[in-house]
Amino acid sequence: MTAATEIAFENTFVRDLEGLYQPWDAAPAPEPRLVLLNEALAHQLGLDPAVLRTPEGLGLLTGTAVPESATTVAQAYAGHQFGNYSPRLGDGRALLVGELVAPDGQRRDLHLKGSGRTPFARGGDGKAPLGPMLREYVISEAMHALGVPTTRSLAVVATGEHVMRERGPEPGALLARTASSHLRVGTFQFAAATGDTDVLRRLADHAIARHHPSCAGTDQPYLELFRRVVEAQAALIAQWMHIGFVHGVMNTDNMTISGETIDYGPCAFLDAHDPGAVYSSIDQGGRYAYGNQPGIAQWNLARFGEALLPLLADDQDEAIRLATEVLEGFADRYLAARDDGYRVKLGLPEGFDAKPVLEDLATLLAQQKPDHTLFFRRLASAARGDEGPVRALFDDPSTADDWLASWRAAGPDADAMDRVNPIYVPRNHLVESALGAAVADGDLEPLQWLLQVLAHPYEERAGYERFAQPAGPDAPPFTTFCGT
Ligand code: AMP
Ligand code: MG
Repeated sequence: MTAATEIAFENTFVRDLEGLYQPWDAAPAPEPRLVLLNEALAHQLGLDPAVLRTPEGLGLLTGTAVPESATTVAQAYAGHQFGNYSPRLGDGRALLVGELVAPDGQRRDLHLKGSGRTPFARGGDGKAPLGPMLREYVISEAMHALGVPTTRSLAVVATGEHVMRERGPEPGALLARTASSHLRVGTFQFAAATGDTDVLRRLADHAIARHHPSCAGTDQPYLELFRRVVEAQAALIAQWMHIGFVHGVMNTDNMTISGETIDYGPCAFLDAHDPGAVYSSIDQGGRYAYGNQPGIAQWNLARFGEALLPLLADDQDEAIRLATEVLEGFADRYLAARDDGYRVKLGLPEGFDAKPVLEDLATLLAQQKPDHTLFFRRLASAARGDEGPVRALFDDPSTADDWLASWRAAGPDADAMDRVNPIYVPRNHLVESALGAAVADGDLEPLQWLLQVLAHPYEERAGYERFAQPAGPDAPPFTTFCGT
């Protein structure tokens, strides 16, 4: 077995993109303790979980003793946060360790969050509390099991020190995560703002090589890159909408070029279906509400297109014309992915014109606000002839009857529905209670259970009923805090 110090990292980001990072070392972790290790992911990466558990393995996972092949850097990026542009964000408390080329041939970044202050830290302490790092682990792994492109979580390591947050001292931790890259819309904004077209071109070439190599042979590779990212994001946001995921902080620095979901902060899953649902305490205006996500994604992609303009044509008007045309394709792409996904969730065959059924459904759900996850899951019972369970989700069940009749007349396939409509999602109250036990009492068992349930979201299992239930009418409204 390869010792932790012998793991071979590649560094194409560092090699190609001088000017877009600062070499930096992780802060010491006085008493590192492995809290969670994703053994399946370790295997996929070609890493031996037993090696990651050794003191040298913990040196790697905390960034305090990385192999010689690795070069730890803080990545630079800019970004629009809640619509306001910040020219210099960057990894304030994170480091890229390097890239692993796994046995499956895929290149993935290993990235550490909570590794100490960097030159991009501004006022922050560079640290991360255990609770939010466990939260990112649970939700990103749940997203992966739901089939949504996402960064993945390899490990959470407690550092042995405390970090100060609003609620008082909390145990400090790092999250080791993987991603097909950490290139963000904000990375391109940063590169464009240098005013050096060569930096921007190197970044775009790197992104093409990594994510969309077939763009390289086309007449307009950078316009083609823009198109691919628009398409990947349209598909991603449609998936979020299908499962009721609210990202909560869709700033341009939290949107990837790869089309993977990234940076799980104040995110949440819908209980009641509500286009206006907002869970983040800092999102006062509801900018990142559930129903606003497609529009925000398009707004962010417009910022990406702006950053690319110098590469699209020598004449700026021409560049704007080209970019606008691609950007306008977002709506069609998104709507097609959204409607096709809902058609599948409703068990209707390919080629079936589901538009009228979907339009009426959108109105019904927005007005009556049944539990999002259970609504789709229980529809399969209705397709089998028992409408009782789905009707029970409505305050006034008769409001659903006309829609149920018209949908059933289309002959939905109940078994196909069970394969695509999850029964278990990381419901906010379940996640909070499991994290509470882990952080306050050091009891990891509830969290391990939850992870295990969420790993098989479509498989209904006896004895797991409580994992499928909403919080209940007496539960206080759920709010997430950005104090991560
Ligand atoms: P986020 O909201 O987590 O996506 O982070 C936005 C920006 O704030 C990024 O530049 C982060 O690196 C930075 N940041 C967040 N928390 C901290 C912290 N505790 N210390 C330093 N920088 C931070
Ligand atoms: Mg971020």
